[in-house]
Amino acid sequence: MKKTINRKKFIKTAVISGLGASLLTSCGATEKSDITAPNLITSKKYKWKMVTTWPPNFPVLGTGATMYADWVREMTGGRIDIKVYGGGTLVPALEVFDAVSSGAAEMGSGASYYWGGKEASLQFFTTVPFGMNAQQMNSWLYSGGGLELYEAQYARFNLVPFPGGNTGVQMAGWFNKEINTIEDFKGLKMRMPGIGGKVLEKAGGTAVLSAGSELYTNLERGVIDATEWIGPYHDYLMGFHEIAKYYYSPGWHEPGSNLEIIVNKRLLDTLEPDLKAILQTAAFRLNMWILSEFEAKNNEYLQKIITETDVEVRRLNPDILRKMRQYTRETIQELVDSDIKTKTLYESYSKFQKNINEWSQYSESAYYNMMNNG
Ligand code: CA
Repeated sequence: MKKTINRKKFIKTAVISGLGASLLTSCGATEKSDITAPNLITSKKYKWKMVTTWPPNFPVLGTGATMYADWVREMTGGRIDIKVYGGGTLVPALEVFDAVSSGAAEMGSGASYYWGGKEASLQFFTTVPFGMNAQQMNSWLYSGGGLELYEAQYARFNLVPFPGGNTGVQMAGWFNKEINTIEDFKGLKMRMPGIGGKVLEKAGGTAVLSAGSELYTNLERGVIDATEWIGPYHDYLMGFHEIAKYYYSPGWHEPGSNLEIIVNKRLLDTLEPDLKAILQTAAFRLNMWILSEFEAKNNEYLQKIITETDVEVRRLNPDILRKMRQYTRETIQELVDSDIKTKTLYESYSKFQKNINEWSQYSESAYYNMMNNG
């Protein structure tokens, strides 16, 4: 009898909430209305703000954030309505972390290496030079204990992180001279953020920090000699092919940058469990969509660069990469020696990377070699 009353009450509430007929059918069939009803009865509506580090409508990353908001609105039947703000429109791009941590905005979209100035170890949740690729990174995060460490680090800032996209392997950058030996980096002024910049300096170069909006002009006027950005799609949209002659691969400094959705932890904890699950699940979807979009578009635009421009697309030679790798080991060791949090994190990261590299020799790597040599 009680069950019947609850079901009637549930159906009434669900109809008022504007939920679809399929949900009514499935709940009726499984008799689980007692479990789900309390959440639906509240039907509370949330208007949330998502601040991002990306310029407004920035391809893939910015548009991905907007799609995330659309998915959440759709999946929650409008109970969570997220308004997305491009970098600088509500808070400056690099203040996203603090804005979400304080609750000034409920959510954010960015990458943890932007917060490396707060704690160097946070960079490992995006990428490090000669680190893991997208597939390995997702594997570490979701199945290798990485996400637990990520969550524990962020909980101290009242934040919950969700992996929310990956760029895949980036390009090494745009140069106006040939790069044949490690000596060619001596005196080279190059836009190269993060740990990659420190590695470049060990090779005798100068790492310059330029905002994305200034890169084209700085490269054109010779303020910098070279720049890295992302990959063929975004680089083409920036117009670098108009002002630089050589485009080198691979992006040793960013082999698979993980992007993040961050949520204010206190506010997330006040949400009904189904809403929390939707926010998390939509981030899984975003993670898959962004990597897929990067791979498809980069392939298309690489072909455009090769066929429609005079740019020479080349690979850095193995000697250069070996040297850069050695400088990277030294740079990371210095970081590990000076910071206990980096040490703990690096132990998990490097152990996972070492193991998965062994497996990759027999799986991905063996497969690519076979396909490229036959
Ligand atoms: Ca980059």
